[in-house]
Formats: sequence, structure tokens, C-alpha cells
Amino acid sequence: MTNRQFMKRREFIKSSAWLGTAFLAPFTSLGCASASPPLQPLDFPVAPGSRILLKNVRIVDVEDDRIIFPGHILLRDQAIEQISEYSDFPPAELTLDLQGKYAIPGLINGHCHLTLPGAADLGLGFLLAWGRQCERNAEECLRHGVTTVRDMLGFPGKLEEMKKNIASGKMLGPRILRGIGIQVRGGYGLDFALLGGEKMVRAIRSVAEVKEQVSRACEDGADFIKTFLQYTKLWIPTPALPVLSDAELIAIQQEAEKHGKVVAVHHTSVEGFRKNLRAGIQSFEHMPRDQELTDTDVEAFVKSGAGINPTASVAWALSFPRNGDPYADAPEVKQIIEDKKARLPKILDEFAEESIRKTALENYRKLSDPDYFEHWHLMITPEPKIFTAAAVIGSRNLHRLVRAGALVGCGNDGGIPFDFPGAMALEMGILQRSGLPPKDILRMATINNAKIIRMSDRIGSLKKGKLADIVILAENPLADIENLGKVEKVFFEGKLKYST
Ligand SMILES: [Zn+2]
Repeated sequence: MTNRQFMKRREFIKSSAWLGTAFLAPFTSLGCASASPPLQPLDFPVAPGSRILLKNVRIVDVEDDRIIFPGHILLRDQAIEQISEYSDFPPAELTLDLQGKYAIPGLINGHCHLTLPGAADLGLGFLLAWGRQCERNAEECLRHGVTTVRDMLGFPGKLEEMKKNIASGKMLGPRILRGIGIQVRGGYGLDFALLGGEKMVRAIRSVAEVKEQVSRACEDGADFIKTFLQYTKLWIPTPALPVLSDAELIAIQQEAEKHGKVVAVHHTSVEGFRKNLRAGIQSFEHMPRDQELTDTDVEAFVKSGAGINPTASVAWALSFPRNGDPYADAPEVKQIIEDKKARLPKILDEFAEESIRKTALENYRKLSDPDYFEHWHLMITPEPKIFTAAAVIGSRNLHRLVRAGALVGCGNDGGIPFDFPGAMALEMGILQRSGLPPKDILRMATINNAKIIRMSDRIGSLKKGKLADIVILAENPLADIENLGKVEKVFFEGKLKYST
């Protein structure tokens, strides 16, 4: 057997093991005795048509960077009926005095994966916890002030079930927009199709197939279309992969637009960034990390009106010391590796089921040893050099785009190892430590995201007529974005769903 055949066989063993377990995982939910109890919906009976007055609150206006105090917000049914500028409020059936606390719009996680578990393992305890972890991911979003998520790829059955249960009030969770993937045969992301079927990712062989595949994805309930311009695998080993041609990407964009759907494109290179620009893509996911963008790239991006979602947590989660990494000694990399060491246990306590927490700590311990990467493992092994480059070059590109006035959104890619969909305060803290001001970061996770997902007429800021997705914080997020971790109450579509 040649070396190459041997490599292929090992990869086949790994894929088969993962596929087998991933098929089992969705069927294993709730069978686990040690599962955390579901977060109970609050008993908050308000008759249809009645009004709730939130008085004496500091309203954070994310569009004008100001705080209105004393502020008052009147809710009726799902929406904000009146807000502050008015003094002649009609009488409310219920008044809550918020004693000077801060009101911000519900956060939007523009990029996450509710049905990925936040760790990787093939053990039984881990698999039994998977289904409950998916539901917990949704609950933790709501508990942490995230009222809308774009699910970038996940198990369609579980996502549809959760959407239904959240809508009927049976479980707590955010508004979920679900993406369905379209990808060129053999390209990055299609491995997932083996797990979730065509309702998760659909393959195309040529431009001629785009039209039908996009319509089928829309029929299957896609809220948006996801695709990928990923030129190599992100896991060791990292062979080259086929990528959509310009013509194919343009066709996807045009077909999706006919259905009124945004196309969100995973890209991590300047080449991918430019291909997106040529195709008129409006939602760029992640950040180029192979080289710095030129002034022409940045100008063209701003002019295109597109949005970009930096997902800084990915570099935080997956950077590890590796022998021969040119970025190993970069201060940004050392800082995130230290920060993760200090924070990971708390993040896991806050967001993970017990066996997922244990697995993640075990994964973390293995990946922290540089020698681990020198050997083949059954566990999927990320290539740290990809992610340390994202921490250095990706961050520089982000700062250039922000300075140029680009539309920058916010999402954390929660669901990947060591990262959870509800952990937006972590993402936003990373952005703050990279040097962005809290007001910019808060705008990115609210109104900017709402624009990127084309919902800014309904969500993303606290304005008359918008949906009443409101988060009450104990302290000022504009003084320190990490105050987003101090959530006291969450209103979702006018109903109080969570309160400390
Ligand atoms: Zn992702």
C-alpha cells in the first residue's frame, strides 16, 4: 500500500467512526440521567392587547450611541408601542420599575451552530448528552440575552423540532434562522451532508444544477443559503479542496436572491474574499487570514454594502501551541491562549452538559501538548496554524474594515469545540481586547447583524414598532462590553421569558 493509500484509509476509518456516531447522536437525546433540567419558561400571563410599561430604565440607543435616562418603554403584544420621547403614555396593565438598569436590544448571534456540541469525542456519555446539549444551547442563548440566531449548518430534524417547540412556548430559545448549504461536489462542508442529508447541504456539479438545488433548499425550509469557499481542510492533514467557480457562486447568489434569501459564504482567504465581491455576495462569514486585504479590497467591500462576520472566537477556541508555527510567539496568540486557559473552565460550567464539559477539558488538555499534533488520532484534530493566523492576520483585516466604515456583524461560531452559541459576551470581550470600542461592538451584534439578515425593520434596536426583544443588564455595556454577561431579564417578542 502506498503512503497515500494508507493516509486515505486512515481518513476513511476516522470519517466512518464519526459518521456512525453522528448518526446515532440525534437519537440519544434526553435518555441521559445526568442531563441538566430544561430551563423553565416563566409564568408571565399577560392578556392579548394589554400593555406592559418598563419604567425608569437606561435605554441604550445603539444607532445613535447614546443612553436615554430616565427612559420608559411601553410594550403591547409582541412590539414596542411607545418609547421614551413620549410623555403621555396610555395606562398599562402592568408596570415594572427597572430602577435605572440598562435596556439593550436582544443580541443577534449572526453565526453559530445550535446542534453542534462544543466538544469532540466518540464516548457513550458524550453521545448521550448531545441531544440535551442542543436544547441547552438554545436555552443558554435566551438566558444570555441572545434572542435571534443564524444557524449556519446543523441537524435539520433537531433544528426544526426546536423551532417548533420555541414557537409554541414549550421550550426556551431564540428566534432561529436556519441555513441550508449548497456546495460543489467534493468541497468543504459536504462531509456534513453525510450526517444531515440534503436538508443540511446539497451538492452541485455545475452551474446548470444551481437553480434546482437552490429552489429545493428553499422548499426544505432554508431561511438563507450557506456556502463555502474553503481551499484546504481545516483539520490535519490539510489537503486542497475543490471550490465553487465564479460562475457557480454568481448563479447561487442570483438564484437565492430570486427567492429573497441571503447567501452567507464561509471564506478564510483573500482569494475567497475577492470571489465573494465578484459574485455580489452580501454576507461574508469569518475573515481572510492568509494575507492582509489591500486598500482596493477594503474600498470595494465598503462600496458593495455587504456585511462581514468576524467570528473572533474561532481563533480563541482553536489556537494551540504547535511546533513550527510562524505565529506561535505573536502577542495576540499568546494572549488568547492564556485567556482561554483562564476562562475555559468557567465557560464550560456555564454552557455545557456535564459529560460535554468533561470531554472538552480532556480535548483541551490533549490539544495543549504540541506533540499531540505530530501523530494521527481518531479524534478530529484542528490545524492550529490556521487559527493562530486568524488571530493575527484576521484581526488586522477586521480592524481595517471597521476603520473604513464597513458593515461588520457579530457571531461566535458557537458549537465548534470550546465555544457555545450563547457565549456572545466572550466573542464581544475578545473584540474589545483587540482594541474595538464597546459601542462599535454592541452595534455589530444588534443593528448591524439585523441589517445583514435583512430584519432591521423588526429587530436590532429599541424603536417604536419593532419587536420587543429587550435585554435588561445590571451594568453599562458601553463602559465595558463584558457587562453583557450581567443579564437580569430577557423579553422576547414582548414577553418576559427569563429573569434572575
Ligand atoms: Zn460556522
